[in-house]
Amino acid sequence: MNVYRNYINGQWLESASEKTALNINPADVRDIIGTVKFSTRGEARGAVEAAYNAFKDWKNTPAPTRGKIVARFARLLEGDQENLARMLTREEGKTLAESRGELQRSINVAEFCAGEARRLNGETIQSELSANFAYTIKEPHGVVAVITPWNFPVAIPVWKIAPALVAGNTVVFKPAEATPATAVRICELFEAAGIPKGVLNLILGAGAEVGDEIINHAAVKAISFTGSTATGIKLYEQAARRGAKVQCEMGGKNPVVVMKDCDLDLAAESTVSGAFGSTGQRCTATSRAVVVDQIADEFVRKIIEKAEQMRIGDGADSTTEMGPMVDEKQFRNVLKYIDIGREDGAELLTGGRRAPGENLENGYFIEPTVFDRVTSDMRIAQEEIFGPVLSILRVKDFDEAMLVANDSQYGLTSSIFTDDPNLIFRFVHEIETGMTHINSPTTGGEAHIPFGGVKMTGIGAREQGSTALDFYTELKVVYVDYTGRKREGNLY
Ligand code: ADP
Repeated sequence: MNVYRNYINGQWLESASEKTALNINPADVRDIIGTVKFSTRGEARGAVEAAYNAFKDWKNTPAPTRGKIVARFARLLEGDQENLARMLTREEGKTLAESRGELQRSINVAEFCAGEARRLNGETIQSELSANFAYTIKEPHGVVAVITPWNFPVAIPVWKIAPALVAGNTVVFKPAEATPATAVRICELFEAAGIPKGVLNLILGAGAEVGDEIINHAAVKAISFTGSTATGIKLYEQAARRGAKVQCEMGGKNPVVVMKDCDLDLAAESTVSGAFGSTGQRCTATSRAVVVDQIADEFVRKIIEKAEQMRIGDGADSTTEMGPMVDEKQFRNVLKYIDIGREDGAELLTGGRRAPGENLENGYFIEPTVFDRVTSDMRIAQEEIFGPVLSILRVKDFDEAMLVANDSQYGLTSSIFTDDPNLIFRFVHEIETGMTHINSPTTGGEAHIPFGGVKMTGIGAREQGSTALDFYTELKVVYVDYTGRKREGNLY
């Protein structure tokens, strides 16, 4: 049985912990992939200390040299794309096409960050005084904790680790309990790319134990987290007490607004792919369709037709369009929300149960589920479900659509379907989300474009793109007075 090991100070070490869990294929629970050991708090401290000791040399390594290692990692990731995609499908459940897409995104991000290493520039600023030179330098924080979820177990770690390293930080990486195999592989590839010992450390284990130990460690100067809102907010509070920097990417309840003058087939197709792609297990998933009354019946008919055609199954099968929930906990949670939707009076149009079928009985499969006549006060319209459940909210016009779309504590992404340019610009102006899409699904993003949300979704600088390094650097401002004497009448 494959026992996953920690990577600390350049060494692969098996945890001494007795606490373990099995890494299971969610499409077929009889397929056991390996054993995760829940590392101890002491081992987590060891990982932080290794990162702390490696920091000075890494900070003093020229940024382009750091970038070359990340560039080599990108090439190795490309070479390993198919292997990692299959590993990802086996441990997380998404379809192979989705895994390949995630790998491509990860390669793109790593390439982009490697290039940023040659652009880690500050600025020169004209002084109010003569013979005075003012400029800024971007400096690393020190040890950065990277705490990640299971739903994009390659892309999210890469989009945090790559910029952290390029900026000159050392990293302690704590992946989700459910996806150890891909986390180990990422670190193996960084090792093969020549990352010096202690610069990147992997610690496997429980969030409440090793995660908690890391985020409260005095040497950890910044924490980049993606996961649930409850955990993110708790982590934010804890880190605030000691002034550590925090970047959190948390929940979403992403709306698509469908107006009467749109291409309805395109709107329906995009809503279905946004809602059920990655089995709804992504923070950018479409979870609310806000539809004007005039076209609601027709839109709903098209949605049901497409949802019922989706082929559910093992993601490793090339004909599968939607894989399973990642584990039993998520599976039960989604079924619980389906019950809540029914109890709150929403009209279940399709799905709503464990997917039947001979090949599905050993996996955590749920049917694509659509509720109609959902109102904004219902829990299924407000709480993040993180599964294949779409709520239809009917509205009379654009103004009501905006009220409903913005009636959420979250603000990650959104989209509108309309051919009316005025509505497009009004939507962009009024929608309270960090990202928005016009006539395309709420999902999707590019490696060189910032990613993140507002309201309870996002805390701290945006990830990726031109803002990728913002969180991982501190600004030092420098004044050089070259008069060689005391200035008269200093103003401030
Ligand atoms: P999910 O419900 O998707 O598992 P979580 O927010 O619980 O989302 O998990 C996201 C990441 O945060 C995981 O790596 C998890 O182990 C970690 N985590 C969970 N609880 C804590 C905690 N108290 N402190 C630090 N990290 C945590």
